[in-house]
Amino acid sequence: MSKTGNALGSRTLDNLAPAGQRVLLRADLNVPMQDGAVSDATRLTRLAPTIRELSAKGAKVIICSHFDRPKGKPVPAMSLRPIAASLAGVLDMPVAFADDCIGPVAQNAIAAMQNGDVLVLENTRFHAGEEANDPAFIGALASLADIYVNDAFSAAHRAHASTEGVAHHLPAYAGRLMQAELNALDTALGTPARPVAAIVAGSKVSTKLDLLSNLVGRVDILVIGGAMANTFLAALGHDVGKSLQERDLHETARDILKTAQGKGCEIILPVDLVCASVFAANPPTMIVGVDAIPPDMMALDVGPATVAALIARLPEIKTIIWNGPLGAFETKPFDAGTNQLAAAIADATRAGTIISVGGGGDTVSALKQAGVEHDVSYLSSAGGAFLEWMEGKILPGVEAISAGMSNIG
Ligand code: ADP
Ligand code: MG
Repeated sequence: MSKTGNALGSRTLDNLAPAGQRVLLRADLNVPMQDGAVSDATRLTRLAPTIRELSAKGAKVIICSHFDRPKGKPVPAMSLRPIAASLAGVLDMPVAFADDCIGPVAQNAIAAMQNGDVLVLENTRFHAGEEANDPAFIGALASLADIYVNDAFSAAHRAHASTEGVAHHLPAYAGRLMQAELNALDTALGTPARPVAAIVAGSKVSTKLDLLSNLVGRVDILVIGGAMANTFLAALGHDVGKSLQERDLHETARDILKTAQGKGCEIILPVDLVCASVFAANPPTMIVGVDAIPPDMMALDVGPATVAALIARLPEIKTIIWNGPLGAFETKPFDAGTNQLAAAIADATRAGTIISVGGGGDTVSALKQAGVEHDVSYLSSAGGAFLEWMEGKILPGVEAISAGMSNIG
């Protein structure tokens, strides 16, 4: 993919006059719930500007989204109704709800809307046509509106009816959150200020193979941490004891190192590690060099010398992308390496010497836990879509916004 600015082109809300129009807004209302209530409203807060803007401009804002995995049939526990109520609280304005996302129920609810009103339609995945990207279902959704706005970047890696299919049947635009995500990703990897570094860590090499392969060709420095680093260290002949590693990927790890060398990408592996005999909170720990991991212990975090070396490199780095915690951050004290590096990156970001972009489910949790979620340039809430973009894959939901128009007369 080229520059994402070009990918969206003029398909942003800047070029949309939605007054009096029915706008089908694909949002991501798939928020974490606990005991029937929204436990983390971050996604709703991030979505609010798009809804407010459309409403203020006089659109009838018809929101659709998936929630969870009902597998094509109605599952009451996966209704969007409680989330619509939560959204009303976030927006501080009334939000109506329709018990179906297509057909007479949706049509009647839309017919009752005034300009500026907001309506949430029931879970799109209550219909099998959603995930199948089925033409009849796409037609039923498209018939509800005059314009389509997609603000669900986090669902853009899926070619479903509401994320992709509908874009070919209505004039399609990106919402403000989608636009912000794409701008941030483009700044980080499309046209970054160099040198650009990536931190790729987390538990497994196997889940990040495409990511590593893409990044070695695009970044100047690649830091490998977390349990993934154990696989690389073992592949280089170090004894990693009982550490989590993937023995069948040693050859792959060596290939990645070789490719990096050929492309002039510097790889940074840990030089020391924090080890324990048991994986539990606050066990006795030992800091060892990578050549001295005791056979009955496991590495659960990068050590202080590694963190200090990484922090020492920050002044020369202009852009940094972070996916994957450096250690088993959910269990103390194995969050220390992640926390210290996060604090240093936050300082550099505040000082304006670095652009920092983070993403990934556990990475978001880890950076929140480190207290820096508001101190990095951009923290992507997009999960799988963020990773696929970083892997260099084309996201069907993004493609369809620009491609879709050519299919409309
Ligand atoms: P993300 O969701 O941000 O893409 P991953 O899922 O790849 O990140 O990796 C996060 C997981 O990696 C966390 O659960 C963390 O505990 C684990 N992890 C990191 N380092 C280690 C380690 N040294 N040993 C065991 N688990 C680790
Ligand atoms: Mg994860």
